[in-house]
Amino acid sequence: YKTHHYKTHHYKTHHYKNHHYKNIQIKRICLTTSMIVASMSLVACNNNDNDSNDPKPQQIATNTNLNFTILETSDLHNNVMSYDYYKLTEDKSFGLERTATLIDNARSESANNILLDNGDTIQGSALGDYQATVSPVKCDETLGIYKVMNDLKYDAGTIGNHEFNYGLNYLNQITGSQFNVDGITASASACKGPDFPLVLSNVISARNNQPLFKPYKIITKTFTATTPDGKTVTVPLKIGIIGFTTPGIMQWDKKWLDGKVTTAGAKEMAEKYVPQMKTEGADVIVALSHGGIDTSPYSPTMENASWHLSQVAGIDAILMGHTHQVFPDASSKDTRLDQASIDKVNGLLNNVPAVMPSFWGKGLGVIKLNLTFDGKKWVVNKNNTKVEVRTIQNADKTFVAANPRVARLIQAEHNATINYVKTPIGTSDFSMTSYFADVGDVSAIQVVNQAQANYISDYINANLPQYKNIPVLSVSAPFKSGFAGGSDYTDVAQGNIAINNAADLYLYPNTVFAVKIQGSDIKKWLENSAKRFNQINPSLTTPQALISTFPGYNFDMFTSADVQYEIDVTKPIGSRIQNLTYKGKPIEDNAPFIIATNNYRASGLKEYYNINSSNVVESPDANRDVLINYIKATKNLSLTNNGSSRSWRFVKVKTAGPVTFKSSANKIDFAQKAGLTNISVVNNDDGSNKGLADYAIDLSK
Ligand code: MG
Ligand code: MN
Repeated sequence: YKTHHYKTHHYKTHHYKNHHYKNIQIKRICLTTSMIVASMSLVACNNNDNDSNDPKPQQIATNTNLNFTILETSDLHNNVMSYDYYKLTEDKSFGLERTATLIDNARSESANNILLDNGDTIQGSALGDYQATVSPVKCDETLGIYKVMNDLKYDAGTIGNHEFNYGLNYLNQITGSQFNVDGITASASACKGPDFPLVLSNVISARNNQPLFKPYKIITKTFTATTPDGKTVTVPLKIGIIGFTTPGIMQWDKKWLDGKVTTAGAKEMAEKYVPQMKTEGADVIVALSHGGIDTSPYSPTMENASWHLSQVAGIDAILMGHTHQVFPDASSKDTRLDQASIDKVNGLLNNVPAVMPSFWGKGLGVIKLNLTFDGKKWVVNKNNTKVEVRTIQNADKTFVAANPRVARLIQAEHNATINYVKTPIGTSDFSMTSYFADVGDVSAIQVVNQAQANYISDYINANLPQYKNIPVLSVSAPFKSGFAGGSDYTDVAQGNIAINNAADLYLYPNTVFAVKIQGSDIKKWLENSAKRFNQINPSLTTPQALISTFPGYNFDMFTSADVQYEIDVTKPIGSRIQNLTYKGKPIEDNAPFIIATNNYRASGLKEYYNINSSNVVESPDANRDVLINYIKATKNLSLTNNGSSRSWRFVKVKTAGPVTFKSSANKIDFAQKAGLTNISVVNNDDGSNKGLADYAIDLSK
């Protein structure tokens, strides 16, 4: 920790002594401060706003050349540690403790750097929930992830949509703000926020029509540059940082924001503030855009405005996020990127360098800019720019080491979160398992569907009155269905349900989506799901495997008494769904339905199903969080109400030979508990050495 400080400090002092007498006063401040409080020294040096000590631009020799590196994290979602709180196990594939190593490496390549965060920072892990809602961080305490970011010497950040998830009061507190907004009482002093500034230009207080946060900040960094005659000099560079978030907050967090704030268009705000920043002396302007790339016609409420921002004059670099993608990505199959104005290989939008570093700290965005001083101002050499995303996963699939300082800083919060996820949120009078989900057990699926349908119904009632009279249904699938062996099944025991059990019920970090489709599409959707089964020939006397290679996590099913259908596995793919009814009547082809699902399935619908769907709700809320909240609200789950409502059955057929499938060994009891009396054990060890057994199903029963 101290070594790191010393090195940076020493480096700067060295440069001052040899090359730039003008900075004497700055260096004295640094030295003096560092003697008293070591941890303050870098803040004083790095975030130096003391313009009076900077050399005047005319003191910089014409054609002086400067390289500097912009580093970006985005969508960290409070994943500080490489730890999955739901599975209660380490997961090296994410976590700021590892991105920190990428940051250190990038800084060791170039001391001319600036580190920025693009939002969706405080919410998205159990750690975030714990500090916001379970044991709320106090006014005089720094939020855990901000403590770590302070230590990593972030220069600035912006606000993502998820920063609003816990309400304006909480956001005001933990960011050390003093929002001038209805519902927040003015206080004499702000609570403890991060050491670095947060900027956001397009969320506007309804009270005074001014941005809730500072719209932008100009940070003066002292960088080394090279004069035309080859000397190294230190120069000040004024970097203007402006932030934008996605206007969807007004729907997603309506309950916190309605009437208190509004959003303004990113482009309008950029056009307003970029010239202002230039007037105030910004040499370079970096846009923190919590949004992705969308080339469709501009609207002030569009979700992903980064491409349109790239057309605003004066923006030199765009740091993106929100869509959790990697950009640039030469191998991207996203056809929306295949147009002349987008360079997905070199990371350019309309020739402006732009980067998006994945999410959860999996990657670090890096933009290397090259500037020349033309005698009056710094000019970015556009053909000498390098944009890349560096990942915490190495080429050999291993992961970079964690920075050990991070774990030390967050240890207390981390341990408290682990205790929290082990605490009960409800009870269940049945075991929720997926061992026999392929053949009809819904004990691990129904509660997920109930939670999703309930959430979407509430959302529609609150926000989308035009859909109020359309039935809301939900589909979900057995996410854990034995692919990795006998332990790869959901198994939540009867009794207390803890928060981490929710991960067993909902494996993936998906978000809730709802699509509006018509009756004929429901049949197509279910026909696709029925690909889970091989076509069975009833006359064969040899054993036939029931389950195909179609993944279990794509085996979507309803679990509502209102929807009934049969699957005829003797028929070819595409003609297996029989007797599909809604409330006892055949579903009409053109009858509208809203189906709750997840972002992953919704985005695949049009491509894979030839289904005519329109997304009506694209919620940023995780299905898993929605499930947790549903269980908390329901408290006591019962087999009758939450675990036994089947929508589908196999069409009965007598087969000459056995129809078999695999599941975890020694689990036949769970089939019986689910009322599946037509299941038998063929062989309790299938010989795969994976803890799997062979079972048979009698399709005539
Ligand atoms: Mg976001
Ligand atoms: Mn995000």
